[in-house]
Amino acid sequence: MAGLDADTLNMVLSTLGKYADRKLTPEFLLKLDHDDEFPREVLTELYDPSQIGLHLLFLPEAYGGLGGGAYDVYRVSEAMAAIDLGIATGVLATFLGTDPIAVGGTEKQKALWMGRIAEEGLLVAYGATEPQAGSDLAAMKTKAESVTEDSKVTGYKLTGRKQWISNGGVADLYTILALAPGGPSWFILERGAEGFTQGKPEDKHGIRASNTAALFLEEVYVDADRLVGGVEGQGLVQAQAVFGYTRLMVAAFGLGAGWAALKRAIPYSQMRIQGGAPLSQKQGYTHKLIVPNAVRLEAARAYIEWASERLDGGEHNLPTEGAVAKYMATESGNKAAEDAIQALGGYGYTKEYMVEKIKRDVRITCIYEGTSEIMEWTIARDRWQEHLKTKGSYYTDWADRLMQAHADHPDTGAATAELALRALAAVLERCRLERLTRNQHVLFRLGELIAWVETAAIFAERVTTHPTPGIKLDREAHKAMARIHARDAAMKVATEGMRWVIGAGTTGEVGATGRSPLLALAPALYAAQAGLIADMDLVAARLAEAFPA
Ligand SMILES: Cc1cc2nc3c(=O)[nH]c(=O)nc-3n(C[C@H](O)[C@H](O)[C@H](O)COP(=O)(O)OP(=O)(O)OC[C@H]3O[C@@H](n4cnc5c(N)ncnc54)[C@H](O)[C@@H]3O)c2cc1C
Repeated sequence: MAGLDADTLNMVLSTLGKYADRKLTPEFLLKLDHDDEFPREVLTELYDPSQIGLHLLFLPEAYGGLGGGAYDVYRVSEAMAAIDLGIATGVLATFLGTDPIAVGGTEKQKALWMGRIAEEGLLVAYGATEPQAGSDLAAMKTKAESVTEDSKVTGYKLTGRKQWISNGGVADLYTILALAPGGPSWFILERGAEGFTQGKPEDKHGIRASNTAALFLEEVYVDADRLVGGVEGQGLVQAQAVFGYTRLMVAAFGLGAGWAALKRAIPYSQMRIQGGAPLSQKQGYTHKLIVPNAVRLEAARAYIEWASERLDGGEHNLPTEGAVAKYMATESGNKAAEDAIQALGGYGYTKEYMVEKIKRDVRITCIYEGTSEIMEWTIARDRWQEHLKTKGSYYTDWADRLMQAHADHPDTGAATAELALRALAAVLERCRLERLTRNQHVLFRLGELIAWVETAAIFAERVTTHPTPGIKLDREAHKAMARIHARDAAMKVATEGMRWVIGAGTTGEVGATGRSPLLALAPALYAAQAGLIADMDLVAARLAEAFPA
């Protein structure tokens, strides 16, 4: 397995925690947010090897780094986001900006640039997005014209504009995607290059402690050895090749920020007396504002851990799993923060209680590194191919595996997740028969259903064997969470799956009980909801114990 040993990871996390307790106090962070200020000295200290050396985690040992794996990146990213998502974004940008070199660079480029990033603690920025090219990077306009001498390419002149670049105004080093004669390619650019200027910091909704700026390139000359990989036209492939990792990182941001909000709401609910008792004892409050959020976040965590273990085990990239993880964790984190404001009532709406800031900060995770809609599309497109390739057995085979998990552990929701997988397979098959994915909305909604069902299956499969290190809850509480999430996923497919199949279809699913596999599953999908409220009661009680006032 790639990655740090447990002691080293724990040391990094503990050093980070102590640094945050000392320096990154709520007052300090609220002031940065208020003043819209990028705290360069914090990044410098985080990167200083004598303090934490956080950037080293992401760099291979061969180039002076620590060689952290995907699991380490997830744990540290979650911890960073729980402290401050703006500062976490500054760190992410260095990781992202280094990636084109790590994935596509020649050995010489890796040794030079990753060595310098490790040794000098350079801040890096990743310049892909343009004013007209966000989700659709292929629409980019920034050009790299080749400069030749004796018909040999000796360099490039870069001209164009980049938009919304994290660390854009403050980085030492930039990786820039530009259209070379042979196609999109990454170039390495240093601050101060002639013709290269940076815009003023954007005045943002959240993550105000991060610097986001436009980049302007006017015939900026770079030598040919700054073309990443030395071959033109590899840029989009190189950008795609890192999504499995970078999306896991942003997923962990959603997890960290979501839990940071809940960890404020849960203790608050035990102190706040309304209607003669603490809010934590009122189902109408806990079962709406607290429990569903904790459940979704832990389902996302199980999936993130599963994907990161696979990456560290040597599987490559896993873009679909990265997309499921990002989608579930960031949407769940965003909802958790939104509900935490509600849970604190009027206090939640003020700055002092932090949940308002967390909510503004976490919102970005549903946008950068691919929007939630692009995640839905990616998930649906990729799994649709699996459905076709396997002639419909991709999810029924998975359901068969869940039957075994249920036999081994009947109290994890595996039987309900199994039903959800079979219902999902039936929805996909109905879409195939009636060619419903020609409707983009149906395709994207399939992406959502798939994310819910896959997280339910993984949560149920892993809950008995894998500890969840981030949240200290006992196994019984985690199993109850897995059962709740499996019921939610099953109900989503039963209702929404049916809705889109009927809403877009022509042959009529309703009334065809005898012929329709989906309708045939409906009674069992509803029956699986039995015990839901009791499980929610249990989770609400255990969360209150875990996070006392
Ligand atoms: C604070 C911040 C930091 C950022 N940091 C970086 C960075 O460091 N480097 C970098 O390169 N970029 C960065 N970005 C850019 C970010 O990745 C993009 O904003 C994001 O990918 C979305 O692109 P866009 O803004 O052009 O929106 P668009 O692509 O125009 O999307 C607008 C809306 O349309 C939807 N949409 C788009 N395409 C489709 C479609 N085909 N079908 C249906 N719906 C669609 C989207 O989901 C979204 O809801 C950052 C952005 C922000 C705000």
